[in-house]
Amino acid sequence: MLSDDSRVDTRTVAWVTGVTGAPLIQKLGLPTERGRLKVQPDLQVPGHPAVFAAGDAAAVPDLTEPGKITPPTAQHATRQGKVLARNVAASLGHRTSKQYKHRNLGLVVDLGPRYAVANPLNVHLSGLPAKAVTRGYHLYAIPRAVNRWAVSLAWLTDALFDRSVVSIGLSSQEDAQFAASEGIPMPKTS
Ligand SMILES: Cc1cc2nc3c(=O)[nH]c(=O)nc-3n(C[C@H](O)[C@H](O)[C@H](O)COP(=O)(O)OP(=O)(O)OC[C@H]3O[C@@H](n4cnc5c(N)ncnc54)[C@H](O)[C@@H]3O)c2cc1C
Repeated sequence: MLSDDSRVDTRTVAWVTGVTGAPLIQKLGLPTERGRLKVQPDLQVPGHPAVFAAGDAAAVPDLTEPGKITPPTAQHATRQGKVLARNVAASLGHRTSKQYKHRNLGLVVDLGPRYAVANPLNVHLSGLPAKAVTRGYHLYAIPRAVNRWAVSLAWLTDALFDRSVVSIGLSSQEDAQFAASEGIPMPKTS
């Protein structure tokens, strides 16, 4: 549904916008960079020893590429979460704090049941090898065995359908209400 209320029927939607920080971040009155809270390499907000931020909410200096910030990806968010927890504990006197540093080992992109591309350690892959590397890495990265089983079973249904069934119906009514309360316009339904 477009902003002029016209409707385009399709089976495929290509999402090409960037990722933006949650609206809350702009309301905190703290310095931001590209909509994300500025933090030190130890994920602490400068001048606020009790405030930490990580993941998409934070502009974390990329110590492997000086001058850049880490991109808003789950790869960084999950690792930064662990460093943040450690550093909050350190700020309370437990063990020592550390700086966030993670070297990018490549990219894997799962393109539905049949396709994938990947460049682990800068080796460019497509077709079946890319599919094996992509799905293998995703299973490795998913937390908890029960989730790995759930995703593996969903992937087995790829043999039966053109589209991956795991991507259908992810947004709950609660998500929709949250989006509305944050002022994010909801698509109009006919
Ligand atoms: C379509 C899409 C595809 C992606 N694909 C990939 C991928 O293939 N690989 C990859 O590495 N990364 C991918 N990403 C990026 C990845 O999802 C994010 O980088 C990651 O989820 C960030 O984790 P986070 O915990 O920092 O933030 P989030 O996962 O966004 O969690 C933040 C939470 O805070 C909640 N929240 C926000 N404001 C408030 C408030 N005011 N009060 C209460 N709660 C609030 C939100 O509802 C949300 O649950 C993708 C992102 C999108 C949107």
